[in-house]
Amino acid sequence: MTTTDLPGAGLTPRAVAPTPTPGFSPEKARKDVPILHRTVNGRPLVWLDNGATTQKPRQVIEALTAYYSTANSNIHRGAHTLAREATEAYESGRAKVADFLGAESPGTVVFVRGTTEAINLVAQSWGRANLGPGDEVLVPVLEHHSDIVPWQRVAAERRARVVPVPLLPDGSIDQDAYADLLSFRTQLVAVSHASNVLGTVSPVREMTALAHRYGAKVLVDGAQAVAHMPVDVQDLDADFYVFSGHKIFAPTGIGALYAKPDVLAAMPPWQSGGNMIDAVDFDHTTYAPDPHRFEAGTGNIADVVGLSSALDWLTSFDRKAVAAYETELLAYATQALATVPGLDLLGSGPDRIAVLTFTLAGHDPTAVADWLDQDGIAIRAGHHCAQPLLRHYGLESAARASLALYNTTEEVDQLVTSLHELQQTG
Ligand code: PMP
Repeated sequence: MTTTDLPGAGLTPRAVAPTPTPGFSPEKARKDVPILHRTVNGRPLVWLDNGATTQKPRQVIEALTAYYSTANSNIHRGAHTLAREATEAYESGRAKVADFLGAESPGTVVFVRGTTEAINLVAQSWGRANLGPGDEVLVPVLEHHSDIVPWQRVAAERRARVVPVPLLPDGSIDQDAYADLLSFRTQLVAVSHASNVLGTVSPVREMTALAHRYGAKVLVDGAQAVAHMPVDVQDLDADFYVFSGHKIFAPTGIGALYAKPDVLAAMPPWQSGGNMIDAVDFDHTTYAPDPHRFEAGTGNIADVVGLSSALDWLTSFDRKAVAAYETELLAYATQALATVPGLDLLGSGPDRIAVLTFTLAGHDPTAVADWLDQDGIAIRAGHHCAQPLLRHYGLESAARASLALYNTTEEVDQLVTSLHELQQTG
C-alpha cells in the first residue's frame, strides 16, 4: 500500500491509494469511451454523474452507426434480407439480456424504454389485475420516485395501499420493520437493488424469500445495480427485475423488464396495437406469444443493438474484478471526502455501490455542482428523484458524485481538491 497526499495544502488525514486491482484497470475502460477525453471549461472532463447516465464506449456508438448504415429495417414482419437481419439483431439482443440477467429464457425479457416504463408496465398490467381493496404494496423509503408513483396511482385506482418501509439511521432498509409489515395483505414488494442516493445495496434475496412466504411478488429495480455487480434473477428469485440501458453504457430509450415465465404468462397486455397481436377481427383479437404480447408497435431496434454491444463491452471485463475495483475506489473517495471541512456524507450502510451523496456546510448543493463544473467536474445536485429519502435526512437537496468503472483515484483527487478550494473561498 502506498499513501498519497490528498490535494490541498498539508491536509490530513491522508487517503490510502488502493493497490491496483488484479484483473482490471480503469484505463482499459477509459480508452474506449471517447467523451471522457473531451474538455469542459478548459479542463479535462471528470464524469462523476454515472448514476444519472453513463458514457458510451466507441463500440456502442459504432454498433449504432453500423446498424443504420447496413441493416436498418422494421422487424418480424418483413420478408426480405434486411428485415431478417434486423430481426436477428433484435432477438439476439433479447437473448443477450436474458443471459446477462441469468434469466430462464429470452422469452422472459420485454424491451421497454427504461426502468420507469418497465415499472409502469408492471403496475398497469400486473397491478390492475392483482391489486384489490385493502391490498398492500410495500415500498422502502429509499426508492426512486419511479418506484413509488406508479404504485400510488394503481393503488388509488384499486383501493389498495402503498406502505413505506422505514430505514435505519445508516440508510439501509429496516429489516425488522419490513418483516413486521409483511402480511397476507401484501401483494407486492417493490425494492431497488441499489439506492441511487445512498448506494446501499439491499438484501434482495433475503427480502424476496420473506415476501414469498406471504405469497407476495417482488419487483427489483436494478437501475443502479446492473452496471456495478453481476446479477442473477433466478438466484435472487425476483418475480420482476427492471433496468435502463443508459445506466449501463448503452443508449437512452432502451431498457428491459424481466418477469418470471409464469408471472408474465398470467399478465394481461399493457399497450395494444401492431406487433403484439396474433390475429385481429372486429369480433375477437388474439395475441402474440410472450414476450411480444408486451411490445406493441415498432420497438427501439437500433438501441437494442446498442444495448447488446454495451453488454458485450461490459462483460469483456472480469466483472468480479470490476466490482472489487469500484469498492476500492469507493473506500478511497469516502476517505478523501472526509478531509473536506463541513462535508457530510449520507448513508453508511455496509454494502454499497460507489455513490457518494453529500452536503457541504455553507453551500447550496446546486452551487457546489456549479463550482465543480467550472473545473470540468460533473456531479448532480437536487432531490435525485427520491424526496422521501432526502426528507428522512431532513434535506430537500444534496450533491451526488456517482462513480463507474472508468473513474480513477486521480479524478477523485480532482473532486476533493476543488471542494477544498470552494471551502477556502468561503
Ligand atoms: N430507479 C432508480 C434507482 C434510478 O436511479 C433511476 C434513474 N435515476 C430510475 C429508477 C429511473 O430510470 P429511468 O429514468 O432510466 O427510467
